[in-house]
Amino acid sequence: ESRALAARLLDALRDAERALADAESRLGELDAVAGDGDHGIGMRRGVRAALTAAEDAADAGAGAQTLARLAAAGWAREAGGTSGALWGAMLGAAAARLDDEAGADPGALDAAVAAAADALGRIGGARPGDKTMLDAVVPFAEAFAAATGTPRGRWNAAADAARDAAAATSDLVARRGRSRTHGERSVGTPDPGAVSFALVVATLAPHLPG
Ligand code: ADP
Ligand code: MG
Ligand code: MG
Repeated sequence: ESRALAARLLDALRDAERALADAESRLGELDAVAGDGDHGIGMRRGVRAALTAAEDAADAGAGAQTLARLAAAGWAREAGGTSGALWGAMLGAAAARLDDEAGADPGALDAAVAAAADALGRIGGARPGDKTMLDAVVPFAEAFAAATGTPRGRWNAAADAARDAAAATSDLVARRGRSRTHGERSVGTPDPGAVSFALVVATLAPHLPG
């Protein structure tokens, strides 16, 4: 059961890696408007390290929790930058809700999503409206909790909410992270971390049971 879930996670990471490779230059351009332009590079480096760690774990016969935990650690270690540390923390918090023996129980996915959003707020310290990835992550977690239906249907609804929320960060003035020093310059451009979060969750939906 847990091995089947581990295989699913590995496939999901492969899709995320492809999506972030395709988006690398666009994410860099968004980050260059008010930040330092490295968001595409950092996300790509992070997801590749996560994928490599997950492949090694799967080869070694790891269960879902170990695979996800090692992927999270790989992301945090290799990505560099603020977003890499925060992605590692989110994935690590989600991984802690998985199991190495049983498959995912019905509540595990809900717990994992809520834990990831909590970890981001706690570790990053951003508030809603600061123009960070939190402005996509919180609407995602709220929409997922509120949605009914299959896991995939609920995830799709949440991914739509994240996409709309990421687009809406365009109107905000950055108050956190590197781009706060050029906060006014960021108006008219969405937050790169919010955009990449929305992209990643959209690619994961087909991997959920539906
Ligand atoms: P860096 O800013 O170190 O170059 P990246 O460019 O990879 O890192 O990531 C920038 C993104 O990180 C921002 O667009 C924002 O979404 C996110 N971010 C920065 N600081 C925080 C924070 N305190 N809480 C949540 N997200 C943050
Ligand atoms: Mg940057
Ligand atoms: Mg940087």
